[in-house]
Amino acid sequence: MRRLILSLPVLILMVSVAVAEVASPPGALRPQHVAPPDAKPPKRDAALTQPQSLDVSAGDEEGEGDAAQADIPMELPLRRPDPPKNIPAAKLAPANDLFGSVAGPAPLAARAIGGYTKGCLSGGVALPINGPDWQVMRVSRNRNWGAPQLIDYMERLASDAHALDGWPGLLVGDLSQPRGGPMLTGHTSHQIGLDADIWLTPMPDRVLTEEEREEMTAVSMLKDPFTVDTEVFTDLQVKLIRRAASYRQVGRIFVHPAIKKALCERADVAGKNKAWLAKVRPWWNHHYHFHVRLNCPSGMTGCDSQAPVSDDIGCDAKAFKYWDKKLKISAKWATDNGFSPLDPIRRRPSVSDRKQRGKLKDLPKACKSVLTAGGLEPLKVGDTLPEVAVKAATSKDAGPGVPVLTKEELAVALGKKKKKVSMQVPERNPIR
Ligand SMILES: [Zn+2]
Repeated sequence: MRRLILSLPVLILMVSVAVAEVASPPGALRPQHVAPPDAKPPKRDAALTQPQSLDVSAGDEEGEGDAAQADIPMELPLRRPDPPKNIPAAKLAPANDLFGSVAGPAPLAARAIGGYTKGCLSGGVALPINGPDWQVMRVSRNRNWGAPQLIDYMERLASDAHALDGWPGLLVGDLSQPRGGPMLTGHTSHQIGLDADIWLTPMPDRVLTEEEREEMTAVSMLKDPFTVDTEVFTDLQVKLIRRAASYRQVGRIFVHPAIKKALCERADVAGKNKAWLAKVRPWWNHHYHFHVRLNCPSGMTGCDSQAPVSDDIGCDAKAFKYWDKKLKISAKWATDNGFSPLDPIRRRPSVSDRKQRGKLKDLPKACKSVLTAGGLEPLKVGDTLPEVAVKAATSKDAGPGVPVLTKEELAVALGKKKKKVSMQVPERNPIR
């Protein structure tokens, strides 16, 4: 704890560097790499030729034409701080405590280092808490940081969705921590400043108070664990997701399988071209928000993109059957174990999950420099978590929780019993 207090002036300096970056003239950070969705189909479509796979897979970088965006240099602090003491690896706190305890960005060139679920971020930039068309939620988490390309994307999407689709404005969930890395709670991804969660709840027509941003709960788009509620999932949400997917730097978008199905069925409201649906991937838990993942910007060495998606839009009966089965299997598992059927994976720590959240040495080597840049001394085993980490770890879940089905509901869901039962999604996660 004491070490972190001693480094406060350094952090303040670093934050001011980041603010200067955000405040630079629009031309500097709002370059041409964001093509309007209605522009001529970009070259990216030609790249979407790999065979369809429903599973999210790691692979080569898709990047193209983003060279101008690589490594935007940032100013170094005026005073060169003392180098951090070399603490033996065995004495370092777990990687998520280390990265979750840092309040400001690494004052280095902007780089997404490693992969989405195993990496870190240098030269992170903060998305301002308020913008003309967005507001950041759960500010206490200090997770509104990203690579400059992500911040640029968020601002552009907010503006376009408002102006062109009538979306009132974005409520922004988690991006990354100031230096990326694994988080104390929540995600396994969001580690390199290229992922963003965006609520499917429209932004109210006023500036939310600090308290509202902590307390307000996102609205689930589901009426039960398997079906979209058409009362809340309107054409506006369809258009918003289509808009978000349509920029060429977007690699993938994750939504709940039921939302993917609804998008397939209602894509017409957002235009005839349905190629964008290929990027929209069904994945657990994304029922009150969607998750945007940008490709690694071209030329950003050390950033591991996923393989580009195929051009299969994933709207055929086979795909739906696959996901329906998966959902029901997880509903059964969750019901048997008293967990949520929508979010079974996060409640069941897998081997890879533990590895990702494990040690600093499991992350790319450069992440150690990112962690200690600016003279920051990393947390040791047994150190008290600083306030910034405690706040982040104790903040409320952004979205509603999910139901544990009763045996009867499960039997109905599995088609073993013909009876109408209502499987409600609760308003708030009961564990938080
Ligand atoms: Zn996410």
